[in-house]
Amino acid sequence: MDFAVSDKMKTILEMVNEFVDRELIPLEPAFAASSFKEMLPILREKQKKVKQMELWAPNFPKDCGGLGLSLVDHGLLSEALGRTPLGHYVFWCQAPDAGNVEILHLHGTSDQKEKFLNPLVAGEIRSCFSMTEVDMPGSNPVLLETTAVKDGNDYVINGHKWYTSSADGANFAIVMAVTNPEAPEYMQASMIIVPTETKGFNLVRNIPVMGHAGDDYFSHGEILYQSCRVPQSNLLGPEGYGFIMAQERLGPGRIHHCMRWLGICQRSYELMCRRANNRIITRDGKPLASRQIIQQWVAESAAEIQAARLMTLHAAWRIDNEGVKAARDDISMIKFVVANTMQRVVDRALQVHGGLGMTDDTILAFFFRHERAARIYDGADEVHKVSLARRLLKPYQ
Ligand SMILES: Cc1cc2nc3c(=O)[nH]c(=O)nc-3n(C[C@H](O)[C@H](O)[C@H](O)COP(=O)(O)OP(=O)(O)OC[C@H]3O[C@@H](n4cnc5c(N)ncnc54)[C@H](O)[C@@H]3O)c2cc1C
Repeated sequence: MDFAVSDKMKTILEMVNEFVDRELIPLEPAFAASSFKEMLPILREKQKKVKQMELWAPNFPKDCGGLGLSLVDHGLLSEALGRTPLGHYVFWCQAPDAGNVEILHLHGTSDQKEKFLNPLVAGEIRSCFSMTEVDMPGSNPVLLETTAVKDGNDYVINGHKWYTSSADGANFAIVMAVTNPEAPEYMQASMIIVPTETKGFNLVRNIPVMGHAGDDYFSHGEILYQSCRVPQSNLLGPEGYGFIMAQERLGPGRIHHCMRWLGICQRSYELMCRRANNRIITRDGKPLASRQIIQQWVAESAAEIQAARLMTLHAAWRIDNEGVKAARDDISMIKFVVANTMQRVVDRALQVHGGLGMTDDTILAFFFRHERAARIYDGADEVHKVSLARRLLKPYQ
């Protein structure tokens, strides 16, 4: 395999890094102090610039208006964007929309593509993905309580979901609901498109997460589906294929998360090194960086980030070249390795900043709060380890 960066990608990465440094990082103090809705006008201005640079929707397929980058190339770009919490949103490759675009592109009817996919890729609307339920274990998603029952030409959906990220302000949700409780376990559920304006789609609240309920794109919704009626033509893909399609969505989706986390690692590492060099801790002018324990954190962080980066690029390369199924073990490995690498690196960077690290005067406290969830969503660490180990042990039985 070859991870040499093409000339085209080198140019793109230079442009993106410069844009992040010049246009987005300076917005972070305002981002920390205001609601996301208040940030929207300025973010839309930045998005216009991204479109002018012809870097809009870098990972989305060309035939629906994206740049069509391979996963490896998008990985490199995503690391650059992940250096700020605003990067993916401004370049329009953010979760959960990125996964929903993939599903709609692969499984949407031409009508669904026109109504939902095209405006989504164009950035005219947003979407959310509604699978996890309040009363059922998300780690075993076949145990769903939400049902979609046929009535005339419609489905009538009832259920109680939460952690439907970015539901606030979204135009539609892709909802996972049981359409046939008698079918084999993995064929019971389907994906159904539910416009959020539908009667019976009730956003109860944005859940407070680590002290912040957030709003708009930066939020996690609790939703009650109460006799929520949508036409059967809103079924996505074949009935009963919800879990199969979710697996397809989660493969590249996990790569996207890991790549973004690497950007967070890199930014935290840069902040840590700068602070270690500049913080004078003795009367005779010695910096924090003169201490071995800090040097050890710097060296370990650099090595761990590079190891995580290469594992992620390798998994992306396998998906690009051999498909999601062949890369299953690699995807499980990076999901917990990169999430934990990020947690360690952010924690060390915060520690090096002392009291400053706990404030919102740097981005580190934001990373620390928001990215703890990385070890839980899209498969908790333990779930990935257990299923990976099961597959690894098999040949030795
Ligand atoms: C910030 C954030 C954003 C999210 N966004 C979305 C979204 O947009 N859409 C959506 O549908 N969902 C979303 N989720 C939900 C997420 O996918 C679930 O939280 C996750 O699947 C875990 O499910 P659970 O919370 O029900 O935990 P549970 O299933 O109750 O598991 C709790 C813990 O038990 C342990 N555990 C569980 N099973 C096993 C096992 N087999 N072996 C060993 N240990 C085990 C793990 O440590 C796990 O963390 C989000 C979650 C978070 C935190």
